[in-house]
Amino acid sequence: MADRRAQLAENLAGVEERISDACAAAGRKREEVTLIVVTKTYPASDSRLLAELGVRHVAENRDQDAAPKAAECAGLPLSWHFVGQLQTNKARSVVSYADIVQSVDRSRLVAALSSAAVRSGREVDCLIQVALDAETGEVSGRGGVAPDGVPALADAITGAEGLRLRGLMTVAPLAGPYAGRQRAAFERLMEISSSLRADHPAANMVSAGMSSDLEDAVAAGATHVRVGTAVLGVRPRLR
Ligand SMILES: *Cc1c(COP(=O)(O)O)cnc(C)c1O
Repeated sequence: MADRRAQLAENLAGVEERISDACAAAGRKREEVTLIVVTKTYPASDSRLLAELGVRHVAENRDQDAAPKAAECAGLPLSWHFVGQLQTNKARSVVSYADIVQSVDRSRLVAALSSAAVRSGREVDCLIQVALDAETGEVSGRGGVAPDGVPALADAITGAEGLRLRGLMTVAPLAGPYAGRQRAAFERLMEISSSLRADHPAANMVSAGMSSDLEDAVAAGATHVRVGTAVLGVRPRLR
């Protein structure tokens, strides 16, 4: 455990340096970017060590792993972000521990999250996941709504009891015009964010960038980066 702690501390320091350097290069203040550590596939003991090392935001992508982990970590000063594709029948469970759902991508999910939030008396922050490989229409294969679906979804979240619209999330696309062009993809997300903020000024979070492309996200203007591998190591099994 002492070894794991030292390893996580070293990895965190490396990621911290990358974020600081990227902020400096972009002329941004370090406080403008929040690190979210993606703990999926790793045990609750790692989440606990991360909390001890000063991490305040963790993310998970599967409810069946996240729910017991969050329960084990109850009482730690951690905010839980849900970043995976979410079935409506999992909304109740996710709402019981998640402070923010970053993967809202369809109106049926908005309705399910809203009724779950109301039932459990919680206020849940929501990000709309934007699929930059889907030019039009609703949900892409990897989750996310096409850019032209964002305004309607934003209005749905704003009108839903128990939910608060906080901004946008994306994963750099593997296909389409932005494949392999992370910086351009994240700049496109910032444009979509600007139009969203014209109607919803409080929805100013922009979650983009992972272990391999956090510098591109910071350069484009992301407020949150989601880093897994660079902190915890290569996952044994990709999900
Ligand atoms: C796994 C995951 C990450 C982190 O990816 P790494 O490459 O391990 O940093 C970020 N965002 C989402 C949505 C993920 O599923």
